[in-house]
Order: sequence, then structure tokens, then C-alpha cells
Amino acid sequence: MVKKSQSVLFDRTPSFSFEFFPPKTTEGARSLLSTILDLQKFRPSFVSVTYGAGGGSRELTRSVVHDLQDRGIPTVPHLTCVAHTEEEVEKVLEGYISAGARAIMALRGDPPRNRPYDPDKDAFKHAADLVRFIRQWEERQRLPYRLSIGVAGFCEGHPDTRNRIREMDHLKAKLDEGADYICTQLFFDNHAFFDYRDRCRLLGIDVPIIAGIMPVTSISSMNRMAELSAGTNFPARLLKAMLRAGGDKQSIERIGINYASNQCSELLDADVDGIHFYTLNRSKATLEIYRNLGINNYFDVDRIHMLNDIYNS
Ligand SMILES: Cc1cc2nc3c(=O)[nH]c(=O)nc-3n(C[C@H](O)[C@H](O)[C@H](O)COP(=O)(O)OP(=O)(O)OC[C@H]3O[C@@H](n4cnc5c(N)ncnc54)[C@H](O)[C@@H]3O)c2cc1C
Repeated sequence: MVKKSQSVLFDRTPSFSFEFFPPKTTEGARSLLSTILDLQKFRPSFVSVTYGAGGGSRELTRSVVHDLQDRGIPTVPHLTCVAHTEEEVEKVLEGYISAGARAIMALRGDPPRNRPYDPDKDAFKHAADLVRFIRQWEERQRLPYRLSIGVAGFCEGHPDTRNRIREMDHLKAKLDEGADYICTQLFFDNHAFFDYRDRCRLLGIDVPIIAGIMPVTSISSMNRMAELSAGTNFPARLLKAMLRAGGDKQSIERIGINYASNQCSELLDADVDGIHFYTLNRSKATLEIYRNLGINNYFDVDRIHMLNDIYNS
């Protein structure tokens, strides 16, 4: 059977996508559903669903993927290979495909902290090994389509690799193994992203590089972000604005949303391939950013016609 390239994720540029995590409670599931309904009207290029390292949320991820695919939303389930055997990874892949997914975000994940773990027993050392494994598995399965594989990128560096030149080799290895696009860790400094994109292009990496954006909505969320996205810089400009809010919760949220809106606006002006919103399963901040950007039927307009109207009015 002839393989077709899976282009659904990037049939419109820039892509707009949202990330969710699988809810653990009925209340969480209800709130996720309402978030999805809120954001669905923006016709996201895709949504992605995270995966708990060690497989804790494996079944949950699959079930969210199934629900989203059922609603006609292209869904990218994440898969981390740390502390997994090849058989376990195959099982997860089979589950994702049967849930309707045609794309995977291939990650290493972080070592589990809450149980004994021996890295020497790992079947996969790095995400590049997982990408290679998925491509081989896909070949063996004779899938009638090509899976779209995304990998993680860290414009401000990843804590495990202090050598910033070596780090780019590691990134390139994932693409050489067959990954199709890069989605970055969240960042607040667009210069870091632009420089990273330039460094990728210098290395001959020409796949789409999607910018990961997460608005700060409270001081506690900022602290959590700093913990989870180890290495992300919080620029003085953002911190100064936070201080001016004098601890007022609503002002802090507004500042975070405005900051992210300005970031997105600059990225779009600089022809970013896509923007990926880390939503934390909440729609409010992302909706506000869309509103601030004035994105409206973005993909439906006849651009030449509209530019003519703007010039001539
Ligand atoms: C967009 C995005 C989504 C994410 N989703 C999830 C999720 O759903 N679940 C979750 O648990 N985590 C998730 N993470 C976090 C991610 O799993 C961790 O940041 C992890 O530490 C790195 O994963 P990776 O896929 O980049 O690993 P890798 O690409 O394997 O890189 C990890 C480190 O190893 C180094 N390295 C790679 N190859 C080599 C080599 N050959 N020799 C020596 N060093 C090497 C790299 O430079 C890097 O420092 C996500 C991160 C991002 C950016």
C-alpha cells in the first residue's frame, strides 16, 4: 500500500494547537470537556494530550484521545519511553492507533521519583531511540498512512546537557530518526526562540518548529512552571510587571495574558510555524489571548482581497 504523508497537523500555517492533560476525577473530566468546547470554535490544527512518566496516566491519555478524535479533533497523544519496555510501548501505540490517533509526540520523559527505578534496565535511553522504534513499528504494522511524529525542543537548554552545541546534535538525531516537527518547551523570551530557530536552520533542520506558550495566571502557577520547565528564563520585564500588580490576583492574571499576547503577536509577525498553548485544561487565558490577537476566521479570509480593502479604505 502506498504511504501517504500525514499532513493534517500542518495543513494551515501557522498552526494553532492546545495541550491538555488527562483528568483524574469526574469533576476534572467535566471541566476539560467545557474547555474543549470553548476552544473547539478556533478549529485548532490539533490538540495534544500529555502522558504521565512511568505510565500512570496511560489509560487516561488513551481515553481522552478517543473522545477528542470522536469529536473530529486531530489529536496528538504524548508518549514517554522512560521506564518502559518495548512491549509496553507497543501496547500504548496500539491503543493510540485504535483510538484514532495518527500522530504521536515522542518523548523521553523524566525518571520516576515515587518508586525505585534502574536506568540501566531502560529499553530506551533517549527520545531518538523512541522515534526510531516508532518508525520501525509502523513499518512492521504496514499502516496505510505515515504517523506524524513530534519531538520536544528546548530553546533555553535542557538541564541534562550543559554543552549547548552537543544538545543540538541530540535534537538533530531525533529528526534523523524520522521526527516531523519540533514543539518547544514554554518560554517567555522570544529572542531565545528566534535564536534557537536560527540555530536549527543552520544545522539544516527544516521541519516546523512550534512555539510553546503558557501565560502566567498567578504567582503560584509561575512557581509551578519554573519547577516543571526547569531552565526556562523568567525575564525581568515580566517580573517587573508582576511586581507592579502589588499582589492583586486579577492584575497578575491580566499581566500574564497581555505578556503572552504580545509574545504571540511578535511570533506571528516573525512567521512562526505554529503556536502551541499549554492550557492546563483551562480555556480562559487562551481565549483572552485569541481575543487580544484579534484572530478571527484567520484561515478563511482571502488575504489578497482583504489587503486590497485595507489599502483602499
Ligand atoms: C512539548 C513538550 C511536551 C512534553 N510532554 C511531556 C509529557 O507528556 N509527559 C512527560 O512526562 N514529560 C513531558 N515533557 C517533558 C520531557 O519529557 C522532559 O523534559 C524530558 O527531560 C526530556 O524529554 P526529551 O523527549 O526532550 O528527551 P531527549 O531528547 O532524550 O533529551 C533528554 C536529554 O538527553 C540528552 N540527550 C539526548 N540524546 C543524547 C545522547 N545520545 N547522549 C547524551 N545525551 C543525550 C538531551 O540533550 C537532553 O538533555 C514534555 C516536554 C516538552 C517540551
